[in-house]
Amino acid sequence: MNYYSLNNRENNPVDFKEATIRGQAPDRGLYFPKDVPVLPDDFIENLHRYSNEEIAYRVIRPYTGDTLPEAELERIIYETLNFEQPAVEAAPVEDATGPVAHTQPFEFPLKKVTPNLSSLELFHGPTLAFKDVGARFMSRCLGYFVRGNNRPVTVLVATSGDTGGAVASGFYDVDGVQVVILYPSGKVSSVQELQLTTFGKNITALEIDGSFDDCQKMVKEAFADADLQKNLFLTSANSINVARWLPQQFYYFFALQQWPYKEHPPVISVPSGNFGNLCAGMMAWLSGLPVAHFIAACNANDVVPIYLQTGNYQPKQALPTLSNAMDVGNPSNFVRILEIFNQQLPSLQKILTAYSITDEETREAIKSLWKHHHYLADPHGAVGALALQRYLTEHPGEKGLFLETAHPVKFYNTVEPVTGDRLTLPAAVAALTHKEKQSKKMDARYSELKDFLLSYR
Ligand SMILES: *Cc1c(COP(=O)(O)O)cnc(C)c1O
Repeated sequence: MNYYSLNNRENNPVDFKEATIRGQAPDRGLYFPKDVPVLPDDFIENLHRYSNEEIAYRVIRPYTGDTLPEAELERIIYETLNFEQPAVEAAPVEDATGPVAHTQPFEFPLKKVTPNLSSLELFHGPTLAFKDVGARFMSRCLGYFVRGNNRPVTVLVATSGDTGGAVASGFYDVDGVQVVILYPSGKVSSVQELQLTTFGKNITALEIDGSFDDCQKMVKEAFADADLQKNLFLTSANSINVARWLPQQFYYFFALQQWPYKEHPPVISVPSGNFGNLCAGMMAWLSGLPVAHFIAACNANDVVPIYLQTGNYQPKQALPTLSNAMDVGNPSNFVRILEIFNQQLPSLQKILTAYSITDEETREAIKSLWKHHHYLADPHGAVGALALQRYLTEHPGEKGLFLETAHPVKFYNTVEPVTGDRLTLPAAVAALTHKEKQSKKMDARYSELKDFLLSYR
C-alpha cells in the first residue's frame, strides 16, 4: 500500500514505513492510502468466528504491505491487544520478587444500555482510554522501523489529555525512541496528568502555560522548522500518523463482531475531537463493514456540526469543556474525511450527522444514564450517548451504539458529584499515585520548545 500527501496528490507516494517514520509529508500534508482495501464478505459476515487478533491482522495487513514481515506484524498485534497489568496489592512476604505484573488481553465489551442503545467500551487498556490501541500499535511499528538506526527518533506530541498518557505508556522503554509530550497546564484531569508525568526514562512531559491549540501549534511549528530537522529526527504520534490512525478501525470490527442484530446495522456515535477515530470508522465502512449511519458527537467545539449544517468550515479557538480530550477548534483529521467524500458535502451528509452537546447537557446525560439505566458514562461517552439518543429520536426504528472512549474514573471530578458515589481507582491508575510527577514548565512560545529540543539530549 502506498500513501500520498493530501497537499499534493501528484507527489511521490510513500510506503507504510516511510509514512510512519515521517508522520506528515514533507509538504506538511497528511498521508492518505492510495486504495481502500475491500474485505471479503465471508470475513465480514463471520466476524464472530475470528479472534480479535485475527480480525486486527486481516484489517491492517493490506495497509502495512511488505514493510512488516508476517511474524513481526503478528507480534505487534499481540502486544497491542495484550498488556501488562501492574500489581498493586502488597505481595506476600515470602514472595521475594514483589508484586508480579501479569499480561492480560485488552477487552472491548459491547454493553446494552437501553433496548436500542449500547456502549462499546474502549477503556479497558493500560491508560483507560481508547487511544491505547493506536499508540501501542504505532510505538511497536516505529520501534521496528528504526531498529539499527544510529540516530534516535524523537516523537513529539501535543495532547489535550488522553493522547499523551497513551503515547507515554505505549512508547515507554521502546529502544531508540525519545518521547516529548506537550500538555496544557491545568487543563487535563489529575489522573491524566499522572499518566503523562510519572514515566520518566525516555518520556519527557512539557507542561505548557496555554491551551491545547497552543500545544498543537508549537508542535506544528517544530515540524515545519528545517533548522530543527537538521539536528533532530522528529516524528509525531498524533492521530495524523497513519500507524496510530488506521488501527483504530479495529474497534468498529470488534463492535460488529458483538452486534446482535444481523439484519440491522448499527448507527455508530463517535465522541470526536481531532476526528481520527471517526475517520478510521469510515475507512472500516469503506472496506465493507455494515454501518447504518455515523454520528460525530462533539462538545461545544462545534466546527464540524456547523459545517455539516451550513457548508461553512470555520476553525476556531478551542473552548474548554468537561470532555477535554475533544476540545479541538481545528480538527486535524477532518481533511481525511473530506478526501473520502471527494470534498462533496451532500455525500458526506448522507452518512454523517453531527451534534454539539453543551457541558450542562453532558452532566444531565451522565445523571440520566446512571439514574435510569445504571450505566456510568464518562463525559466523552456521555456526549456520544446523548448525540446518539437525539439521532434515534429523529429516526425511530434504528438501533445504535456509542463508543465509550474513557473510563469514568479519569473524570471523577465530574462523575462523582453527579452519581453521589465514590469511584475506585483501577489497578492501572492506582499504581501511578505512588509515583512522583515530573514535568518541565514552559511558556506557549515556539522558541522555548526549540531551545529545549536542541539541548535536552
Ligand atoms: C482523543 C479522545 C477523543 C477524540 O478522538 P479523536 O480521534 O481525536 O476524534 C474522544 N474521547 C476521548 C476520551 C479521547 O481521549
